[in-house]
Amino acid sequence: MTTQRNIAVERTFLAIKPDGVQRSLVGEIIRRFEAKGFTLVGMKFMKVSRELAEQHYGVHRERPFFQGLVEFITSGPVVAMVWEGDGVIASARKMIGATNPLTAEPGTIRGDYGVNIGRNIIHGSDAPETAQQEVSLWFKEEELASWEPSLTPWIKE
Ligand code: GDP
Ligand code: MG
Repeated sequence: MTTQRNIAVERTFLAIKPDGVQRSLVGEIIRRFEAKGFTLVGMKFMKVSRELAEQHYGVHRERPFFQGLVEFITSGPVVAMVWEGDGVIASARKMIGATNPLTAEPGTIRGDYGVNIGRNIIHGSDAPETAQQEVSLWFKEEELASWEPSLTPWIKE
């Protein structure tokens, strides 16, 4: 039964970057996704290796900010997470806000807490394909815990 449910449910990869951790925003950020009604299925507090950082941001390899980005993401611990829920990929991106916190809408995480594109607090997968790639890059299957929140009937019909 659990397995069947999980095939249908969408998952995304989110990571609170070293600046979010240093600025004590971990609880606030997790609170927002919990309060929205999404379900946490995986989480780890970890230092990121250069290899993992370069793979994760591989699409930006040729960009001028790539080296700085890798340095930054490996500079301190991050909170890597997998969240589950209907439409969670696009919805989490909306809750995170635009890449540049200065232009991100107030009410979004980046819009509320950031001022600089190189310190934008949180990462979120941008599409179903990247979500799948990033979840499996950062987590082993056995690190993900499927569960049925008792609040589900109060969150969706
Ligand atoms: P995201 O999907 O909104 O995180 O943005 P991108 O995929 O375009 O970029 C990945 C990450 O690279 C961003 O979250 C920023 O941390 C960083 N980044 C993107 N563009 C720039 C830039 O022009 N300058 C700097 N310093 N960092 C950037
Ligand atoms: Mg991106």
